[in-house]
Amino acid sequence: MFSLLFGVALTQIAEDRRRAMLGWLSTLAEAMVGIVGFAMKLAPLAVFCLIFTVTSKFGLSLLSKLSFYLGLVVAGYLVQLFLFYPLVLRLLVRTPPLAFLRKCVPIMATAFSTSSSNATLPTSLRVTKESLGVRPGVAGFVLPLGATINMNGTALFEGAVVLFVAQVFGVQLEIGEQIMVVLLAVISAVGAAGVPGGSLPLLMTIMAQVGVPPDGIAIILGVDRLLDMGRTVVNVMGDVVAAAFVERCEVAADGAASRP
Ligand code: ASP
Repeated sequence: MFSLLFGVALTQIAEDRRRAMLGWLSTLAEAMVGIVGFAMKLAPLAVFCLIFTVTSKFGLSLLSKLSFYLGLVVAGYLVQLFLFYPLVLRLLVRTPPLAFLRKCVPIMATAFSTSSSNATLPTSLRVTKESLGVRPGVAGFVLPLGATINMNGTALFEGAVVLFVAQVFGVQLEIGEQIMVVLLAVISAVGAAGVPGGSLPLLMTIMAQVGVPPDGIAIILGVDRLLDMGRTVVNVMGDVVAAAFVERCEVAADGAASRP
């Protein structure tokens, strides 16, 4: 909100002074990216240290719990992808789900390999328009919006992580707190950036909210890249299904409008 107001206010300022501010902001943005670059260089070592500490604290039994967690989250993704979306496609979009999913293979492959909704956007725009027949106006509106705010795979994963870490640390979450976790997971998934690991910082705030130690996130960091690939596929496919649904509604509305 502040950035929007600031940008609007800047347009009211004389050209030369505005340019000075823009130059300053660009340099600041580059410096920030540089800082992130330092963190990324340190990340492999830091993640190793975090995982080492947690594993030495909880012992090797943690690994079997971790594999159960992995299996559970992947099962959630599969239900969403191959049960829920096909149901929506069949009942709301009224299109054969199998053929639809087959056309979406390039989108899923890009999402899986990049772990980024944003990086997948050009592919999903192309396939949605060319292979699924969604009009450019609809695809161009729904997909970028979805890549930013629609992350159901992320919400699903966040809920599972908080419960898993709570159990490992022996934190008892009452039903009210569990409902709170669900709500916070949905809200924070809206705010998560569509980049690899974009949801992890927000996930720590959810954990802190319900009294689960945020540094417990270390337990899942080692396997997160794998799950990130899967949840990005679920996120992006949610946007594509939504675009197909909006297209169907638009076609129906156009048909109704042209009828005498
Ligand atoms: N990688 C995810 C995406 O781009 C975001 C996340 O859950 O970390 O959709």
